[in-house]
Amino acid sequence: MNYSKQREIIYNTLKNNAVHPTADSLFEIIKKENPDLNIGIATVYRNLKLMSDIGMIKKISGLEDAEHFDHNTFTHYHFICDKCKKVFDVDADIAPVSAVNFEKQTGFSITGYDITFHGICNECNNLNTKTIDKTE
Ligand SMILES: [Zn+2]
Ligand SMILES: [Zn+2]
Repeated sequence: MNYSKQREIIYNTLKNNAVHPTADSLFEIIKKENPDLNIGIATVYRNLKLMSDIGMIKKISGLEDAEHFDHNTFTHYHFICDKCKKVFDVDADIAPVSAVNFEKQTGFSITGYDITFHGICNECNNLNTKTIDKTE
């Protein structure tokens, strides 16, 4: 199979699983959805890096474990639940004031920023004995 076909499968799998997967969990999904596909984890890593280098996808920073990837390249931020480690999207409208204030304060020009909130999601807040569904 050619490279662009592989990349297409990786991209589409990422797009259809908008839960900010890591390369490893994305690889698991690809294998499950395409049992006949001969693809290695190294290929997934390589393509994710390449696609984030050219801006097709986004690499989410601010996570202590493995890198997570995001097909949504529009400006938005993330909330990471410290308990279940799920990554949620946060509307971009929430932050520009801080950027403007910072520019005023320092005179720096901001060309971009990533904001990551940490906390406990609703599901984990409501969680008693219920088990967490694993949708990393
Ligand atoms: Zn949670
Ligand atoms: Zn996102």
